[in-house]
Amino acid sequence: MEIYDHPTFRMACQQFDLVADHLQIPHDERDRLKLPKRALTVALPIHRDDGSTQVLFGYRVQHFLTLGPTKGGLRFHPDVQLGEVAALAMWMSWKCALTGLPYGGAKGGVACDPTTMSKTELERLTRRYTQEMIPFIGPQVDVMAPDLGTNEQVMAWMMDTYSVHAGHTVPSIVTGKPVGLGGSLGRREATGRGVAYLVNRATDTIGLDIGKSTAVVQGYGNVGSIAALSLARYGAKVIAVSDVRGGIYNENGLDLFALERHVASRRTVLGFPEAQPISNEQLLLLPCDILVPAALERQITQANAGQIKCRILAEAANGPTTPEADAILNQRPEVFVIPDVLCNAGGVIVSYFEWVQDLQSFFWGETEIVDKLFRLLETAFTQVLAASRKQKISMRLAALSLGVKRVQEAKRIRGLFP
Ligand code: NAD
Repeated sequence: MEIYDHPTFRMACQQFDLVADHLQIPHDERDRLKLPKRALTVALPIHRDDGSTQVLFGYRVQHFLTLGPTKGGLRFHPDVQLGEVAALAMWMSWKCALTGLPYGGAKGGVACDPTTMSKTELERLTRRYTQEMIPFIGPQVDVMAPDLGTNEQVMAWMMDTYSVHAGHTVPSIVTGKPVGLGGSLGRREATGRGVAYLVNRATDTIGLDIGKSTAVVQGYGNVGSIAALSLARYGAKVIAVSDVRGGIYNENGLDLFALERHVASRRTVLGFPEAQPISNEQLLLLPCDILVPAALERQITQANAGQIKCRILAEAANGPTTPEADAILNQRPEVFVIPDVLCNAGGVIVSYFEWVQDLQSFFWGETEIVDKLFRLLETAFTQVLAASRKQKISMRLAALSLGVKRVQEAKRIRGLFP
């Protein structure tokens, strides 16, 4: 479908085609499963602080409507395009199905650079985007959450804009809100915490002592920083991290608490005293036990897949590994891949808990939330590992196949309409 043409959409389609062949899905069912159900593109005029007016472009793609509302993050990043958002929506469908959540996949984005915008500009943009989305979203229609470049504050503005329109407070319109506004305890930490839980399970699986392991994290944002801290709690030594501006490396391990203070004041990992600078490209090739790409899509490619030197590749980001890189990794059994749809599923799982709590107006304690999160991740990990071993297929093919199969069955049972 030409309107979605984009390297990341092509990548998601290539992955789907491999799964469809593996599952022997009839050809006349494939487009229905693959192509997003609907998409909205909006022009967003906003006032900049200097008094000028700028029009930005925003998108929302809802991939699969059969099982309930759609669910997925909202991204603010300069490279956002409709096709990228469509690919991310498709992956959300497989992820929700894999983990057994009653959602279809969705994703949204605005092409903008939030790092160069003031807080008031971000607020005007967020409110304008939400306003334009009102006919397209709702607690039983489509529920957004934070992603790259968005955070709790952005979710609070969205919730407020929607609530003003509705005439009453509607916390369940977004997840990842501040806890004081109906957010869930443990949501901010959920994705990174889930990544570390699954890495720990993977170390058990391959017989690696996590207490003696080293870890490298690309993308020290919400997901990457919590993943690093959580891995350190399991005993791993985090030796390198990075952000969009570059990375830092200390073979003896980084002091993550000092780093947190540094990032809070400088808004970058660069310049951290007890480490040497390293580029994002070099960082991915560092010898380590655990490599966590937690930034953008298409970071592990044909060019570097043969050279990465980790035992576990934990895909915290969405789509960090291209299908060409995957083919190379499939020939490298010494690298255990935790595929993105499984690895970063902790985020949407606790988003689901937040939505349920908001709908019931009954809130749970953090211990209960973390316990329920780990249970769902455990079930998904065990199922994926079992399918991978039984069918002698990669962890990615196993995870995607479980997700796609559940979506296919739901569509078959309901009929053509949804
Ligand atoms: P974030 O904006 O909080 O952090 C992103 C980090 O990546 C920042 O440190 C940024 O500087 C860095 N970065 C950006 N471009 C980079 C580049 N080219 N090279 C290296 N670093 C770069 O975003 P986040 O919420 O942590 O999301 C990170 C990834 O995790 C995304 O792929 C997102 O889709 C995925 N994800 C997020 C969640 C969630 O709950 N937030 C859930 C599932 C998946």
